[in-house]
Amino acid sequence: MPAAPPAPDAKAAPKPASRSPQSIPPGISVEPPPSGDDLFAADPLRQLATLDALVPVIDACRKCGLGHTRRHSVPGEGHPKAGLVVVGEAPGATEDDTGRPFVGRAGQLLNDILKAIGFKREDVFICNVLKCRPPENRDPEPLEVAACSPYLHRQLELIGPRVILAMGRPAAHALLGVNASLGEMRGKLHRYRGIPLIVTYHPAALLRNPHWKRPTWDDVRIARRIYDGDSA
Ligand code: URA
Repeated sequence: MPAAPPAPDAKAAPKPASRSPQSIPPGISVEPPPSGDDLFAADPLRQLATLDALVPVIDACRKCGLGHTRRHSVPGEGHPKAGLVVVGEAPGATEDDTGRPFVGRAGQLLNDILKAIGFKREDVFICNVLKCRPPENRDPEPLEVAACSPYLHRQLELIGPRVILAMGRPAAHALLGVNASLGEMRGKLHRYRGIPLIVTYHPAALLRNPHWKRPTWDDVRIARRIYDGDSA
């Protein structure tokens, strides 16, 4: 008589959890990433290959309330492969009227600061954390920064500058993700995704307090040296 097959062992060790469809909770369907292994390939901004392609997307953006109250969006302007990118806070009234960054009084001062270190506006790229004006120039709100900063990140990715100049605390916070004071952030070499980043005063703050001009010149001279290839 042939031997009976061995009885199943009730004490056998449980099998390790597998990723079979049975282990997916009911009601959840599994979608594979759309292309290859890169989950971020689905990010719509990653599909935009030029700064110009970002402009209509920013203009159509209504991810926060500012898209409904502003007159013009202000995406930024300058050289598409600038070695220096200047990042401010948000458009003011003149920028909202014109759709161009830093064209009011603070913008005139920014032009002078750039000139002092040997740049013309068209040599660099100038933009803001927020692409739309907050009413009455109030401070950006965290949710507005969160909604808008992907545009800034994509701009920086496309430009690939040698150095970034963050003007004012909101710009430094948005790029460095730290909640430090301007005093703590100035005078240090930071890195944004590997790119050297210098923090300095916002030109509007210099208009209010001209004593800060001297330390600003010190900061921008450091940015210029990094641009010129001094060790960073
Ligand atoms: N202030 C900013 O931060 N950005 C501008 O474009 C103008 C004023």
